[in-house]
Amino acid sequence: MILLVEVLLELDLPADEPFAADRCGACRRCLEACPTRCILPDRTLDASRCISYLTIEGRGAIPGALRESVGDWLFGCDVCQSVCPWNARFGRPTADPAFAARPILAAPKPADWLSLSQEEFSARLRGSPLKRARRAGLARNAAVVAGNLRRPADVPALGHALREDPSPLVRAHAAWALGRIGDAPARRWLRQALPLELEAGVRSEIHAALADGAEGPG
Ligand code: SF4
Ligand code: SF4
Repeated sequence: MILLVEVLLELDLPADEPFAADRCGACRRCLEACPTRCILPDRTLDASRCISYLTIEGRGAIPGALRESVGDWLFGCDVCQSVCPWNARFGRPTADPAFAARPILAAPKPADWLSLSQEEFSARLRGSPLKRARRAGLARNAAVVAGNLRRPADVPALGHALREDPSPLVRAHAAWALGRIGDAPARRWLRQALPLELEAGVRSEIHAALADGAEGPG
């Protein structure tokens, strides 16, 4: 796997040559495995559709047309790296404890992230790159994951996020996820939140979620 890093020095170092060798040949595995098909045949990347961009760097809503493709990726996406034969051949798990997952990251559940306060988020992720997505960004991602997993067990956490989260971004994605689950409790949370919600963007997500499940249960 490739880990991108940057080291800032005061030294005037000579630049090395650009990497020009073609090590891909006829392989197209990463193009075909990419969930959003954002790796283009000319070997450029449409970053606006990359799940790593959308779930880490993107500060706004994840476009509706791409949410299903996010699947259960909470933070970033490694599909293109995982399928690359170079990684399969040479990549080895590290025993360095500095790279070991923290307990909250070992088996993350969407509900864990939806209910984190800003204080808990800062304390648990101190020093972690996951902080880059910020609390609202990770809660937004957790809502999308919950909407894709469609587990009724996530409905209470999504409902509380829709009713109480201070971020309209989180509330909007929680509404979408409740619409995807679409069972009677999910629709009850949506109906109860509608008269209390003042943000137009969140209201429109609630309306869309209720309309999507109009023929479903509840
Ligand atoms: S990180 Fe995921 S979404 Fe982004 S280019 Fe790779 S496979 Fe595609
Ligand atoms: S999977 Fe690896 S070797 Fe294959 S095209 Fe992508 S980067 Fe190249």
